[in-house]
Amino acid sequence: MAVPFGKTSKARKNKRRTHFKLVVPGMVKCDQCGELKLAHRVCTVCGTYKSKEIIKQ
Ligand SMILES: [Zn+2]
Repeated sequence: MAVPFGKTSKARKNKRRTHFKLVVPGMVKCDQCGELKLAHRVCTVCGTYKSKEIIKQ
């Protein structure tokens, strides 16, 4: 099995992990309630899309 020749430094490891983001791309803030929601989809928190109520609560 292949084994790495050199130790990966903390700097190199951390630079590689700069691409690890907490929020997945495609998440935007809801216009109504400000919660994070998936873009181009009805907000699951307040049930609106483009400021119109889609899901009655
Ligand atoms: Zn909302």
